Amino acid sequence: MDFEVAPLPYSKDALQPVMSQETLEFHYEKHHKGYMTKLKAAIEGKPEASKSLVELIRSSSGGVFNNAAQVYNHTFFWDGMKPSGGGAPPAGVALDLINKLGGWTKFREEWINVGASRFGSGYVWLVLEAGEPKIISTANAETPLTTAAKPILTADVWEHAYYIDHRNNRNAFLEAYCDKLINWDFVATNLQS
Ligand code: FE
Repeated sequence: MDFEVAPLPYSKDALQPVMSQETLEFHYEKHHKGYMTKLKAAIEGKPEASKSLVELIRSSSGGVFNNAAQVYNHTFFWDGMKPSGGGAPPAGVALDLINKLGGWTKFREEWINVGASRFGSGYVWLVLEAGEPKIISTANAETPLTTAAKPILTADVWEHAYYIDHRNNRNAFLEAYCDKLINWDFVATNLQS
């Protein structure tokens, strides 16, 4: 596998004031890169080292799974945001998908509810399951990659994702994510791939 964390698709101050540079400094540099450092240490010199990241996620358990899945999930989270993003999607495949879930207002409400209801750490996801859109959450490092569902978008709801900017208010983070951060181009690309 490629032992480098992908570069952020924007500068660390690009999402300010919605997501602070300090949050990205910690979340990307310390947490995301930290998972890769631990993954490398765990598989160095072992047969697993020749696998791709996705192969590792689908064939491992314990610490290797947790760190590999966290590397993948974080890259997916970064790619799903952009400066001046969010709000209702523009006309196109992303809007068509959101309309299948009852429209933007309903989607936003459910995304926030599902993310806020995840006890402890995890992620809220938009996935395609047998071609149908669903909003789900996963615990800790778990990822739809180990299921038949195709990931389309995710938000990290670990406390480290929002504590610097929103303290304990996960709802405020999810509201800001929906209204100002979602990268609908990323959603459209995933729907068409
Ligand atoms: Fe995280």
